[in-house]
Amino acid sequence: MTRGVKIPKCKKDSITEKIIKYSKPKFVYIPLICQNDINITVLVKSGDYVCKGDVIARKRGNFRIPIHASVSGKVTSIIEKPYLNGSLVKCVVIENDFKEKISSKIVPRKHINDYTKEEFIDKIRDAGIVGLGGGGFPTFAKYDTDSKIKTLIVNAIECEPYIAADYMLLQEKCEEILEAIDAIIEINDIPEAIIAINRGNTKTREIINTFIGTYLKIKLVEVPNLYPMGWERTLIKEIKGITYNHIPAEQGIIVNNVSTIYAVYEALKYDKPLIERVITITGEMIKEPQNILVRTGTPVKEIIESIGGYKRFKDIYLIAGGPMMGAAMDSDELVSSPNLTGIVVNRNNVKQEAIECLRCGKCVNVCPAKLSPVLIMNGLESPEKLKHLRPEKCVECGLCSYICPSKIKVRDFVIEAKNVNRKER
Ligand code: SF4
Ligand code: SF4
Repeated sequence: MTRGVKIPKCKKDSITEKIIKYSKPKFVYIPLICQNDINITVLVKSGDYVCKGDVIARKRGNFRIPIHASVSGKVTSIIEKPYLNGSLVKCVVIENDFKEKISSKIVPRKHINDYTKEEFIDKIRDAGIVGLGGGGFPTFAKYDTDSKIKTLIVNAIECEPYIAADYMLLQEKCEEILEAIDAIIEINDIPEAIIAINRGNTKTREIINTFIGTYLKIKLVEVPNLYPMGWERTLIKEIKGITYNHIPAEQGIIVNNVSTIYAVYEALKYDKPLIERVITITGEMIKEPQNILVRTGTPVKEIIESIGGYKRFKDIYLIAGGPMMGAAMDSDELVSSPNLTGIVVNRNNVKQEAIECLRCGKCVNVCPAKLSPVLIMNGLESPEKLKHLRPEKCVECGLCSYICPSKIKVRDFVIEAKNVNRKER
């Protein structure tokens, strides 16, 4: 039986008429971080002029992927800004000249199936594409493998409540997404692709069925509407009935999020690097929820103002990424980044104060990683004990906090334990 929990989706207000665009930030603040790694070399300095798509920084060490300018203009400084995990991160500041000058390195190509596997891997690495479902793992690394890949699973589950960016993208760019899936499996000699959607997601099923006809190697599969079905491990178990030790490629599987597939499409077709993405701005305190295409590094405050602002600014609770896996933010000063899927702004419910642990074991029963969150939480004072409790296996899904009758933020303790173990190693 699948391990998962039925949770309220709260997406009604987040599903909007269309995706709108905000491309007018006066300044962008490009975060110098990749998958929580700040080991980045900056390639520009104050006063430099950059074009849209120019490489301004590059990750060091493993997966040396580039970070690109999302607007054209002058580099003014490097300053710290809040990032989606709540920490301060250095950002390259570019003053937008609104000329939209495009990097001379960008050379569009018409036929997206016309790449060798090596060219494909180089292209998506040079485009700086990372997992846009929130994980931020460099996409090229999934394909740069010696394992024989038998199935590409396209994850269109979007199980985080409130967030609807993938849903909207599929409604508007379904043909392009199918074209990209077809190209990816042909280039990488993958026999089949499976698009996974939630059971009962009628509109998505209909739009995919409208265009899927000519793509004989692409299948649509509906999976139970449970959380966290979007997690790779749960999804693969559900669809293929198999597990893996470290990465899905061990079992011949690659999983890509649907927004990531669209970014790959734009890289293959237009040579476009990852400089923008669709995010959902929603919640009961947002006047007019929207799905909005924004440049990397755009101040969230400015995005919210551009769509009409808050219903009220007092006693609000702002979450970057969604209520299950996202992080509560102190303010709206953060900037958009490739792994920011959305912003949820709700009333600050002061009644939700935590009480003592009841030792009910509910957090243990729901944990998809088969951990004992309550024991990890209590083991924080003993690093020796923590080693055996394996908090590093936590996928930060947030189910333990969600289910806890004492309203304890169990997930935060498990993440803390993860960091303790990392330092101890
Ligand atoms: S311990 Fe981690 S994986 Fe397990 S339920 Fe909590 S957040 Fe999810
Ligand atoms: S769910 Fe909450 S109250 Fe129950 S054991 Fe876990 S931490 Fe304690």
